[in-house]
Amino acid sequence: MSDPIVAIIGRPNVGKSSLFNRILRRRHAIVSEMAGTTRDRLMATAEWEGHRFILLDTGGLESNPEGSIREKVQEQAEMAMGDADVILLLTDVNEGVTASDQLAAERLRRTNKPVVLVVNKVDNESREFAANEFHRLGMTDTLPVSAYHNFGVHDLMDRLVSLLPSTIPYEEDWEDNEG
Ligand code: GDP
Repeated sequence: MSDPIVAIIGRPNVGKSSLFNRILRRRHAIVSEMAGTTRDRLMATAEWEGHRFILLDTGGLESNPEGSIREKVQEQAEMAMGDADVILLLTDVNEGVTASDQLAAERLRRTNKPVVLVVNKVDNESREFAANEFHRLGMTDTLPVSAYHNFGVHDLMDRLVSLLPSTIPYEEDWEDNEG
């Protein structure tokens, strides 16, 4: 069975690539070359507590570079709904809730795939308070993080692996199932 896919979507500059790198630099992260695809810098195999998954930063996979930010985020959402098993919608606490965030949240509400709304740049307590504003996007799963300061990333990873379709840590897979 192939590894489940976790897609990070969100506007430019919310911190998608920072979160991507933060997750991959964690203990036990396995970065693999995905040679022969155009996505090699945007996909990597990550691992958390024995659960392996493919992390996808959709931000750089634009087929419509001239499009507006709203269009790009919508395109990322469509791609994630097609390809991913779990979707992380990343937002920026400093910018607050934007029209693009709202549109993406609306679109993602219509998928039955698990979606986590991740509020990034929550670098201190006052920003944690500000992050409450994002509850109005109506996502059951909303988590504050700071990709930069590594705040909340542990909780996010725990949440994420609980949503992965495969619940068997790969270390415990049967090595020999013929006996
Ligand atoms: P992307 O365009 O969504 O991939 O965003 P980047 O990862 O390139 O980040 C955009 C900017 O936000 C960069 O200057 C990052 O250093 C900054 N950034 C990312 N995460 C955080 C964070 O947790 N706190 C703060 N204060 N800045 C951050």
